Amino acid sequence: MSQLFKNDIINLLNSSGEEEQELFARASQVKLQNVGNTVYLRGLIEMSNVCDKDCYYCGIRKSNSAVHRYVINEEEILEAVRFAYENGYGSVAIQSGELQSSAFTEKINRILQKTREISNGEIGVTLSCGEQTEETYRKWFESGAIRYLLRVETSNPELYRKLHPNTPKHSIEKRIEALETLKAIGYQVGTGVMIGLPFQTVEDLADDLLFMKNFNIVMCGMGPYIEHHQTPLYQYKDELLPLGKRLNLALKMVAILRLLMPDINIASTTALQSIEKNARMRAIQIGANVLMPNITPRKYRDDYFLYENKPVSEQSDEDDLKVLEKSLSEINHEIGYGVQGNSKRFLIK
Ligand code: SAM
Repeated sequence: MSQLFKNDIINLLNSSGEEEQELFARASQVKLQNVGNTVYLRGLIEMSNVCDKDCYYCGIRKSNSAVHRYVINEEEILEAVRFAYENGYGSVAIQSGELQSSAFTEKINRILQKTREISNGEIGVTLSCGEQTEETYRKWFESGAIRYLLRVETSNPELYRKLHPNTPKHSIEKRIEALETLKAIGYQVGTGVMIGLPFQTVEDLADDLLFMKNFNIVMCGMGPYIEHHQTPLYQYKDELLPLGKRLNLALKMVAILRLLMPDINIASTTALQSIEKNARMRAIQIGANVLMPNITPRKYRDDYFLYENKPVSEQSDEDDLKVLEKSLSEINHEIGYGVQGNSKRFLIK
């Protein structure tokens, strides 16, 4: 079944009714056989919404002057890391708007070194801080980061150009080069795409999945595109698939990726939940095995506003471990407490 060709993938993405249910059932089975029913946690810390990029889809893009910008200081981040460690999260993911500066590099470097101290090297760190120089990636790796998540956003160069300003700072070639560099350094590399973008076709999505397979990623974080009224892409809102359909397409992407790459880590992402409260659990049932509960200090959460309806403070209790544990047990899954939950595909390489 892992021998799926582009046409098969397109058919699966277009499937509905019984066929779609068969896809979900098969993906669920493949997941249980290969990575089991344990869900690994990455406590998500949204370190800063200051960004030097101007991606047309993103609420925290540089040109959005309506955003209240914040930067969380080191001590507050380390407090969140301590919380994660003491509560058995096993891993944290530090995400940030994209900056290339020595101050930014050094800050993350110190956080990594202190995280290692705080947790005796037990907690796994994923970084998702955009494109950086090889030197920076290497430095962070040596200071303890083991995984890096850098979404390619779309693998279609033409579509990529429509979603980003035409400047050297926004180049798909550089993004892919960054992914190659991360892999060569020794990171567990993850990528992902947005699903249901304006101008995106089902063929594009099939190519995205094949890109992930050919690149031999070991983890993936992908989710539906959700419009944001303060972004240039908002003008195309009437051309988008209805939210329910976008969610379904995103679930099918997860399921097909599980069939294509049975032993990788796949995250059930926050954007799914912003369409439907229970969607993260649905993604777990049909292929995902990683959850990224938000552990950003509460006072900053509303400002990491990438897209409309992003679940923020008043709903974030859903990320409380007890609530997650209960929801997972209802679908016969359990949390992998206190373990890093590294990608099986990476470990057996
Ligand atoms: N700057 C880093 C980078 O580029 O990898 C990490 C931060 S960036 C805000 C994290 C992710 O948010 C992006 O990779 C993108 O896929 C997602 N994102 C941004 N705007 C979005 C939107 N409108 N809908 C869904 N996802 C969005």
